[in-house]
Amino acid sequence: MGQFVEESHLTECYQAIKHVVSFPSVCNEGENGTPFGQAIQDCLEDTLELCKSLGMRTYIDPEGYYGYAEIGEGEELFAVLCHLDVVPVGDESKWTTPPFEANIRDGRIYGRGTQDDKGPTMIALYALKSLLDKDVTFNKRLRFIFGTDEETLWRCLNRYAEKEEKATMGFAPDSGFPLTFAEKKLLQVKLHGPGCEQVQADLGGAFNMVPDEVLIEDPINEKVAEALSKKDIPYDLEDGKLHIKGKSVHSKDSDQGINAVMRYLIGLNEVIDHPLVKFLVEKIGENALAYDLVGTDKKDDVSGPLTLNVARVTLDKDHSEACLDLRMPVKIEKDEMTQPIIDKAKEYGVEYEEFDYLDSLYVPLDSKLVTTLLNVYREHTGDMTEAISSGGATFARTMDNCVAFGAHLPQYEETEHQINEFIELDNVKVAMEIYADALYQLVTVEGEK
Ligand SMILES: [Zn+2]
Repeated sequence: MGQFVEESHLTECYQAIKHVVSFPSVCNEGENGTPFGQAIQDCLEDTLELCKSLGMRTYIDPEGYYGYAEIGEGEELFAVLCHLDVVPVGDESKWTTPPFEANIRDGRIYGRGTQDDKGPTMIALYALKSLLDKDVTFNKRLRFIFGTDEETLWRCLNRYAEKEEKATMGFAPDSGFPLTFAEKKLLQVKLHGPGCEQVQADLGGAFNMVPDEVLIEDPINEKVAEALSKKDIPYDLEDGKLHIKGKSVHSKDSDQGINAVMRYLIGLNEVIDHPLVKFLVEKIGENALAYDLVGTDKKDDVSGPLTLNVARVTLDKDHSEACLDLRMPVKIEKDEMTQPIIDKAKEYGVEYEEFDYLDSLYVPLDSKLVTTLLNVYREHTGDMTEAISSGGATFARTMDNCVAFGAHLPQYEETEHQINEFIELDNVKVAMEIYADALYQLVTVEGEK
């Protein structure tokens, strides 16, 4: 065992994971007057009880949006940013054991939330317990903040940010080791245009996916197909149904996908004259880096280029709309990137609406937080992989000077959001030892060097 973590902390943690998984904490907005559902509320209250039993001071938002548990004294506040909600289980018949009855077998704990994020939350809590059992003295306040709406709209931590004290430093155990020190700005935009007489369609879907299929039945399909042929874009036309295939990837990697909706619009734009379609085709087309829209200089050395995904396009008789997902470099001001879009859209008679925005995360590699966490990880694993920059999003970006740190070890399978989600028991052990050492060095008197 490590310096702090004993066998008992592991077995207690396994039990705690089993228990917390037993709450089916999938978002069910408004149920029984709770913001995100009874199970989430119960899970939050129960977890705060556990924290209390460890000797922590607890607080629950009266409306149930978030809760936190704190220990130690001092001016500074170190945050561990967790979440207790989970994504739906999917096809339950495909689970080997029930998703909300965590099952230990083959050196793993199976169950919804074991990897994202109930498992890591408990690992971090029992890492703290291992320090408490050694009677360490804190030089800061250490606060576990429990979000309840991470998998949907982050209303929990947005509320927290409005009402509560922000951390001076911290991490989110909701990602992979070694460490994420930069996450791009995340912008979701809706573009509004006039109605469309010739075609009515709802194409694509969620903001965070590149749409990989268009299947449309419409009288003008033959003309669109002709135009696609001229542009060397592959399609199928059968019984009047036009079928275009793309390649689906997460929006953060949109430059590696093939956007089927954009391919369709490129053909459609040759057949009809519509401001929104024209704008999308002429200013974006199949270039996910959007050079014609924002220029070629929207990139930095830390997080790379701006990427854009046209996730959904709706054409109705009286209105048209496009949903865009943009991942934008951390070092460039937001306005520098959005103003060209707003201006060019206007030239086409298209209206720009900001739908959602998450600011970027960026903690320099030479900061005390990053060097300390990375060193602890390296000492425990021997893995010298560098810290990473990502287009994804964790709660770490809700506060300055926070990073995403674990709990997933790179040698193990990623199962978050999947059927038969599991976490390896060995991952629990190593991650707990890493967290214990990291907290020891960052929030205790003895760990101070
Ligand atoms: Zn998560």
